[in-house]
Amino acid sequence: MLSQVVELVERKNRFAITSHARPDGDSLGSSLGLYWLLLALGKDTDIIMRDAVPAAYQKLPGAQHIRIASALDEKYDAVFVIECSDITRPDLARLDEQFIINIDHHSTTALFGSINWIDSTASAVGEMIYNLCKAMGVRVSREIADCVYTALLTDTGSFHFSNTTERTFKVASELVRIGIKPARIAEAVFNSHPWSKLELLGKVLATARHDATGRIAWIRQTLEMKERAGASDEDSSNFVNYPMSVGEVEAVAFFKESAPGEFRVSLRSKGDTNVARVAEVFGGGGHRNAAGCTLRGDWDELEEALIPLLQEAVADANGEDFTRPTADDLVQLTPQEIGA
Ligand code: 5GP
Ligand code: MN
Repeated sequence: MLSQVVELVERKNRFAITSHARPDGDSLGSSLGLYWLLLALGKDTDIIMRDAVPAAYQKLPGAQHIRIASALDEKYDAVFVIECSDITRPDLARLDEQFIINIDHHSTTALFGSINWIDSTASAVGEMIYNLCKAMGVRVSREIADCVYTALLTDTGSFHFSNTTERTFKVASELVRIGIKPARIAEAVFNSHPWSKLELLGKVLATARHDATGRIAWIRQTLEMKERAGASDEDSSNFVNYPMSVGEVEAVAFFKESAPGEFRVSLRSKGDTNVARVAEVFGGGGHRNAAGCTLRGDWDELEEALIPLLQEAVADANGEDFTRPTADDLVQLTPQEIGA
């Protein structure tokens, strides 16, 4: 919890910060916010990630100090693991030999740290880093403010998602008072994409399908589409949100081929529809309205296994009875057969 984090930071000196592979706005914003916080306290701090910083976040203060590595080759007093559901997500060798402080806002997170500070009411881990500044008496500098705002902006889907609270706006308002420029950050994050992204988006949206009710939609991206467009992984990171813009759609799945026979699945939902529970069936996790998992197997069969679970989740949220399709209706695979 927070008091344990404060106490440890006060006592120790040599820290590392890491977050999940394929970092996003919250993982980077909160990791870098924490980095500036620790520097302000005169602590010796490394920030180490498995994957390079996506273009959208390269303007974040301190992004150039992030070291890209596949292992930790030094013993730290403590390593902060930011926004990770389990200890494998940073994909760093020898991480498990360290004293770990786990900081996250996902309710499904494993308590893998020696200290675990989990606040599922925080809209983003960035909001928790802001609270940590307050708890430690560290002034929220312009650098910290830029990083925390980026985390809030991206993890709330530009303040669209249900994790957006009064507290989110309070923190954001304080950050604006400190001097951050919301328009400039939004420009850097959302309006600085390459043409390859638009080209890939066209191909992926052309695959959009929906079930008979129109409430479940899904899209696909093949490795070939990505290669033809010359697109990067990050180019498709928000594609799952496009079908959500249709009025009657309540849940969306985005199946992204990540290697031959392997699919990263992003799930999104509106209202009470719980897609975290669907992701958990396949070994993934996340939040009620945004979750993900990795599946292996044949594309059509994976869709046939997952879509009925989404239909069930939407039916549940609407208080309807739902009968799962029988084996005659579709090819049934057990989660064990296809889960990550
Ligand atoms: P995205 O669709 O943007 O990759 O992920 C949406 C949400 O689900 C994020 O909050 C992320 O942490 C969570 N998530 C995505 N993939 C996984 C996964 O494989 N395992 C777990 N536990 N959570 C995931
Ligand atoms: Mn987050």
